[in-house]
Amino acid sequence: MADKLKDAKIIFVVGGPGSGKGTQCEKIVAKYGYTHLSSGDLLRAEVASGSERGKHLQAIMQKGELVPLDTVLDMIKEAMIAKADVSKGFLIDGYPREVKQGEEFEKKIGKPCLLLYVDAKAETMVKRLLKRGETSGRSDDNEETIKKRLDLYYKATEPVIAFYESRGIVRKVDSELPVDDVFGQVAKAIDAL
Ligand code: ADP
Ligand code: MG
Repeated sequence: MADKLKDAKIIFVVGGPGSGKGTQCEKIVAKYGYTHLSSGDLLRAEVASGSERGKHLQAIMQKGELVPLDTVLDMIKEAMIAKADVSKGFLIDGYPREVKQGEEFEKKIGKPCLLLYVDAKAETMVKRLLKRGETSGRSDDNEETIKKRLDLYYKATEPVIAFYESRGIVRKVDSELPVDDVFGQVAKAIDAL
């Protein structure tokens, strides 16, 4: 584990696509001074930077293959170390997607103190993503891809939640509610840390 991150507070933010993870993370950043890291955003930024690693990643993603787990973790870790001195803690958004990813994260970086489970019904997530798709410019916010992402989410992520349930660090928030009410539940979970 990196020394600089020894005492860092780490929160995994897990929930389906469109459940409201990004929305809640923004509010946590504003109120608590945490650093928000989304693995998808990090990958997209690395590609956009035109670095050697970015070019390599782009080639993999263009072939429709998965970026190696180690590469994603290295990028998260570098981003965390860069912010270690000024962050109150870290929000790891949309990761781990599978139990193995969580285990690797803990080996390389550290243990989460909380898993924030942002829960919404499938039909709610679909509605929100279709709406987001009107303006997000994200090519994966379309009906067919949304179905696939939801299927994958349920298959891969439910075991992740069960894994951390058994450690007693899962706090579920009801993301069917209006944004500020969801955040009320989020804040309670963070204040209790
Ligand atoms: P995620 O990061 O989990 O994919 P986002 O935070 O991007 O989800 O939210 C997806 C869409 O749903 C966004 O357009 C957002 O404004 C909207 N949204 C998020 N949370 C709520 C909520 N509690 N009520 C209504 N709309 C929401
Ligand atoms: Mg998001």
